[in-house]
Amino acid sequence: MDRKTFLKSLALLPFAAWNMKIQDFPKIIEQPAFAKATAGKMPVLFVGHGSPMNALEDNAFTQSLKKLGEPFKKEGRKPAAILVVSAHWLTRGTQVCISPKPETIHDFGGFPKELFDAQYPAPGSPELAKETAKLSALIHESDDWGLDHGTWTILMHLFPDADVPVFQMSIDYYQPMQYHLDLAKQLQSLREKGVLIIGSGNIVHNLRMSMERLRTGDARPYDWAVEFDTWVNEKIAGRDFQSLVTYEKAGKPGKLSVPTTDHYIPMLYSLGLADDKEEIKQAYEEVTMGGISMRTFQVGVKFEKNLFCQE
Ligand code: ZN
Repeated sequence: MDRKTFLKSLALLPFAAWNMKIQDFPKIIEQPAFAKATAGKMPVLFVGHGSPMNALEDNAFTQSLKKLGEPFKKEGRKPAAILVVSAHWLTRGTQVCISPKPETIHDFGGFPKELFDAQYPAPGSPELAKETAKLSALIHESDDWGLDHGTWTILMHLFPDADVPVFQMSIDYYQPMQYHLDLAKQLQSLREKGVLIIGSGNIVHNLRMSMERLRTGDARPYDWAVEFDTWVNEKIAGRDFQSLVTYEKAGKPGKLSVPTTDHYIPMLYSLGLADDKEEIKQAYEEVTMGGISMRTFQVGVKFEKNLFCQE
């Protein structure tokens, strides 16, 4: 088994078939305003991606992604490229994928054929990926990945035309949490070059307990999931990112919400890219399936007119 196949097989073992639509208490929050263009940087997103089935579904979450993507289609606001840090590319050492034609990776099992047939044919961006690798000695070039479902299932709604180049950076799963917040800061200059950076994970992600509840037909959010999701939201609003690095100190809700750190870490990249006073606007919040937070937010809500024009 080669490394990519091995990683793919690891990527989504816990996902059983949950081909069901659960929209408990979805809430679309007012979208960021782009009317006044003053900032000189591309915004940053964090997206709670949830079930791969969101790629095909039309629900409150996917509708919020469509709205979130709208402003990036306007003249002068189209990203030069999209860099995604996905919960589903875990490696030893940080890698950035330089493939010119990244394949759509179907890293899951137990879903309908339609999902396996889905393709996201965006080109890669070898140039910007290589530039990313030059920003830190910790980042290494790789051609051993494509677009995993943490990336393409959300981009199908954010950028349905697949006309913006996309490349991924991996999560070094052997590093402490602080590493990720610090490494994100070293990627700042990419924003000024028109790169839209997206962290894709889930702030609360306890599949085992979600499945337990779903098996009984109960889709109500667990109290600990709501408590931790709210706690994280408060820390973001108070710009206390350091507390989010040491989330275990939040007690039992943190331990239950983050049983493994893979889906939590992408959020640290999105927050690490925020300037001190840059606005962070919530775009969507929902705790679905009992123990999965779909919280999605945008860092930086204003564009400088025509700064990022790709054409
Ligand atoms: Zn995931």
